[in-house]
Amino acid sequence: MPTSRRHAIPNLPTPDFTYDPHAAGACVAGVRPFRNGSYRLDSELASGRFVVHNYGHGGAGITLSWGCAAKVAEIVKKRIAVSHDTQVAVLGAGVMGLTAATLLRDLGLEVTIYADRNPVETTSHKAGGQWAVSVVAFAGKEQELKGIIKTSYTTFKNSIGAGFGVSEVPNYSREVTPGLEVVRRLAPGLMPERESLMRMPFENHTKPGFKYQTLLVEPPIFLLRLENDLSARGVTIEPRQFISKSDVFSSLPQKVIVNCTGMGAKKLWNDQDMEPIKGQLAMLPKQPALKYLYGQDGYMFPRSDAVIIGSTFEVGVDNETIDPAKCKSLVRHIAALFGQAVPVAMPEYHIHHPRNARLFDPTLPTGV
Ligand SMILES: Cc1cc2nc3c(=O)[nH]c(=O)nc-3n(C[C@H](O)[C@H](O)[C@H](O)COP(=O)(O)OP(=O)(O)OC[C@H]3O[C@@H](n4cnc5c(N)ncnc54)[C@H](O)[C@@H]3O)c2cc1C
Repeated sequence: MPTSRRHAIPNLPTPDFTYDPHAAGACVAGVRPFRNGSYRLDSELASGRFVVHNYGHGGAGITLSWGCAAKVAEIVKKRIAVSHDTQVAVLGAGVMGLTAATLLRDLGLEVTIYADRNPVETTSHKAGGQWAVSVVAFAGKEQELKGIIKTSYTTFKNSIGAGFGVSEVPNYSREVTPGLEVVRRLAPGLMPERESLMRMPFENHTKPGFKYQTLLVEPPIFLLRLENDLSARGVTIEPRQFISKSDVFSSLPQKVIVNCTGMGAKKLWNDQDMEPIKGQLAMLPKQPALKYLYGQDGYMFPRSDAVIIGSTFEVGVDNETIDPAKCKSLVRHIAALFGQAVPVAMPEYHIHHPRNARLFDPTLPTGV
């Protein structure tokens, strides 16, 4: 039976959806590095180098970062116990590269990051930042993912209040949220249990729904903190663009290489399973009174720098060109759910629909 909240929760503030899609920075676009079948987290010996791959995390790279970095460090630790290498090259300065570099430095290794984009220019910097296992394939890797999820969640949760841009927030949704249902299934008890609500706590949005308690990781704060901490520990980011795998091997001296190139791995490692999924986000002015996330056929994440409304879901599209009309439609859709705009038909590029979620996690029951 749903829990009655009719008298228990006062209404939460309704967002201000005033939006000019043509204002500078009002619409941003990034490309999710999605990998069909599964993300890649393994190692190989090639041209006398030990290469650890850590890419293909689609729409969940921020979420899975610490857990994947711990696996990378575990793999490298085993290797250096035998090879006695002391230097490691990390390719990529997105969230995967920076978190892996952090834990490799913890092993006492001399770490150098090589990338053709600085953290602030990466896809990671553009992410919304909800902690949820969304838009990532993990066929045959349920056990591994379970460990990754646990490590990531625990690490992020332990960093609340320590300047990493992490906070614990409720997420309200009309339907269950697939990216959080995966967590409930694989790691029951890790997060607070979701609540069923007879009524959403908003003035003009009073249908039944669900409340999850999850984390918000603000990428601009998180990445800058990682970058500064690494720099203080002697880890530099060298600007470098690699054009092929053999270019990597011929230009780098390190015998241990960690490949965190996201979408770049498609070309560098000729990985045909990599598939770009473009996502556009509308950025509204910050609204500090909003202390909750919202998700249904799109989402709204109030952060300290902006209110993020996302996201489009453009499969096979590998460019970062913004389309202000699409950003406007994202805002109008969420505004309509809050009774602040006239409802319109949901465009096909909205992501947070159960039928999309099942593309990535076919084990989800129909209707989830
Ligand atoms: C709109 C949108 C919203 C998102 N929201 C969320 C969210 O709420 N929560 C969440 O967990 N995730 C979210 N994501 C997903 C997340 O952003 C990605 O999974 C994550 O950024 C991937 O990190 P990465 O380090 O693998 O790749 P990137 O951040 O793309 O970094 C790749 C790095 O590799 C370097 N590189 C690549 N090729 C080369 C080359 N040839 N030579 C040299 N360097 C190279 C680049 O310069 C860059 O530094 C979102 C993504 C988008 C697009």
